[in-house]
Amino acid sequence: MIENFPLEKIVEPLLQWFQGNARTLPWREAPTPYRVWVSEIMLQQTRVEAVKPYFERFLLALPDVGALAQCQEEKLLKLWEGLGYYNRVRNMQAAAQQVMEKYEGKLPADYEQLLKLKGIGHYTAGAIASIAYGIPVPAVDGNVLRVITRVSADRSDIMKQSFRTKTEQALQKIIPKNHASAFNQSLMELGATVCLPNGAPLCEKCPWQEFCETKKQNLWAEIPVKTKAKPRKIEEKTVFIIRDGEKIVLRKRPAKGLLAGMYELPNTSGHLSEKEAVIWAKEQNLSPIRIQKLEPAKHIFSHVEWHMTGYVVRVDELSEEKGNMLFVETAESQERYPIPAAFGAYMKYLV
Ligand code: SF4
Repeated sequence: MIENFPLEKIVEPLLQWFQGNARTLPWREAPTPYRVWVSEIMLQQTRVEAVKPYFERFLLALPDVGALAQCQEEKLLKLWEGLGYYNRVRNMQAAAQQVMEKYEGKLPADYEQLLKLKGIGHYTAGAIASIAYGIPVPAVDGNVLRVITRVSADRSDIMKQSFRTKTEQALQKIIPKNHASAFNQSLMELGATVCLPNGAPLCEKCPWQEFCETKKQNLWAEIPVKTKAKPRKIEEKTVFIIRDGEKIVLRKRPAKGLLAGMYELPNTSGHLSEKEAVIWAKEQNLSPIRIQKLEPAKHIFSHVEWHMTGYVVRVDELSEEKGNMLFVETAESQERYPIPAAFGAYMKYLV
């Protein structure tokens, strides 16, 4: 149990280990508040290796809070394309605008003030405050919860907010005042590179191997305890690549909800037969000439799975844009319009 474990033991060996084992990561060079913020939001959704090129590209296009605050929506979504969870980048922009108005473009060096910014929760506020400003506050993410429950052999459910708060309070007591940045980063690093989430942890490389309760009792397969998430909702869809020569049809998604404001390939609910697909196209005031069935595809969001089937529909003359349909040149479709990765399997038919 975390409350019965002498947690202060972990500090020195961890800091020493980090000195020799910290990975070189782009956001660790010159960890300004803005760079830490962008990297932490990106890292919440994907692996370090996948984040690197996105991070470089984002920073090049939007080098500071002011540039992010003013960025045109389509450009912003395009920069985020492929990372998913588009609301996160919208929230970042809203927060950047708050920072421009209230703090003259500088993220506040204050944990509580950071928490008030849109999309910044306890973890991100802790990461910015400690890594960029050296403020001794914890930053507890999934990696940190795993290493702390393992070292102390705590069987609490790490999905519970109450346990997260308890961990934050416990870490607050031991976080070294002058090494808050290294301490938080080293906890995350240990979780990411040694005390691994899937499969056996690399205990022989761990600075805590002498006193870790999970290692002593060989409990790594049981800890951390995690309640299972609800199963995802399955949505069936039929996706259309509607083309007339070099022109295709895109649609703009509604301003609210999943993938808000993005562009998409036209689609409808259910798996339509060829005949039904032709009827659907006619209902959109299109004149189908030829139809070709495509392979099925799947995309997984956090709470929903799309199970898709697709058709290329050749039509006669795309001339009049109706409703939210947009006729675009295939060459510019992928360059100019942010199309979510959910349609990735069918993008090859746009060339
Ligand atoms: S000794 Fe093993 S189980 Fe314990 S914290 Fe280190 S890597 Fe994890």
